[in-house]
Amino acid sequence: MNGDFRQQLRAWLADNLHGEFAKLRGVGGPGREHEQYESRREWDRKLAKAGWSCLGWPVEHGGRGASTQEQVIFYEEYAAANAPARVNHIGEELLGPTLIAFGTPEQQRRFLPKILAVEELWCQGYSEPGAGSDLASVSTTATVDGDDWVITGQKVWTSLAHEADWCFVLARTQPGSRRREGLSYLLVPMRQPGVEVRPIRQLTGTSEFNEVFFDNARTSKDMVVGEVGDGWRVAMATLAFERGVATLGQQVGFRRELDALIDLAKRNGAIDDPVIKERLTRSWIGLEVMRAHALRTLSRKDPGYEASVSKLVWARWHRELGELAMQVRGPESMVAVDGDLDEWQRLFLFSRADTIYGGSDEIQRTIIAERVLGLPKEPRA
Ligand SMILES: Cc1cc2nc3c(=O)[nH]c(=O)nc-3n(C[C@H](O)[C@H](O)[C@H](O)COP(=O)(O)OP(=O)(O)OC[C@H]3O[C@@H](n4cnc5c(N)ncnc54)[C@H](O)[C@@H]3O)c2cc1C
Repeated sequence: MNGDFRQQLRAWLADNLHGEFAKLRGVGGPGREHEQYESRREWDRKLAKAGWSCLGWPVEHGGRGASTQEQVIFYEEYAAANAPARVNHIGEELLGPTLIAFGTPEQQRRFLPKILAVEELWCQGYSEPGAGSDLASVSTTATVDGDDWVITGQKVWTSLAHEADWCFVLARTQPGSRRREGLSYLLVPMRQPGVEVRPIRQLTGTSEFNEVFFDNARTSKDMVVGEVGDGWRVAMATLAFERGVATLGQQVGFRRELDALIDLAKRNGAIDDPVIKERLTRSWIGLEVMRAHALRTLSRKDPGYEASVSKLVWARWHRELGELAMQVRGPESMVAVDGDLDEWQRLFLFSRADTIYGGSDEIQRTIIAERVLGLPKEPRA
């Protein structure tokens, strides 16, 4: 069965990464989301039509009900074919599973088919200027007015908000509530007068994330996922999906980067430097360890602190890969020709963000210290 799955996928990718899509090989991903965006969207639609997206979703919701093992195979073959980074991952991997777990049948019928068909793209509206690591400090509010929620506040670092049709927003719906109480998880249309998206220019020169201002933005009353006031629980479930099988796809991307770097080191002679040779080897071992850890963790129903261990390990590993890439390239890595960054410079600069997003290193270590090692809790206001 798995052999068939692998063969079918391999054949499909070989047949379809052709013609107009051939140019998409190796394109896109963190720090490179601007590359061929529209064509990659078409590619995602093509994958979806052929049944190669939303693999882990249950069949009754339009997915394939694929096992973890099959999803691993998918990521392996996808990377081996050098297929492009997906544009639909926030809908497919974060919101879709959340709606399947917590959404009403109406919400599932309304949104899941559009995610499947890559007709509506999503962004994640959690972080605010005063609520990043301390997400429970969310201050964006939503109040009921007639048949609508009216949303006011500011989100920040909202990845791909400039492309998104909808945003899942964590907002305070109970006036005067504090911390995790009184929050709700709202689905808000992005294309309306009350929503302003301002791109943030990153170190890489490109803009993948944004500030998002909600100024009396509206969404209808039935656009709450889970119970009103129970948004924290739903928001945490989304984060668990973010740190689940989706991370395998990311690791496969890492392998592709490492393979390309080894190839570059062979071509430009950097491999003759014993220090570089050793660092490349260590990097390869690190990737094997991450893979083993991910597979072990994913086979558990409820990965807990392991997700923090994974986050710490992969973020540091990837940041070091960016630094190693600069070393392999040598002095050339210091020069941006005509102000344009090449893929290695982009990797180096963007990977600085790895130890911040999805929960910073410090926060992951606090989780491990307090919940696993039983060390004294840090003081809280
Ligand atoms: C590339 C990228 C994409 C992102 N995409 C999204 C997105 O799509 N949607 C979204 O909602 N958010 C997104 N984020 C935001 C991300 O979740 C936050 O940046 C992250 O949670 C950290 O919050 P902060 O930036 O406010 O930093 P802060 O929380 O202000 O932290 C600043 C520094 O202080 C440290 N620190 C904070 N609190 C503690 C503590 N208690 N103990 C020890 N150290 C502490 C942190 O580790 C960090 O080093 C993205 C961020 C990046 C970099």
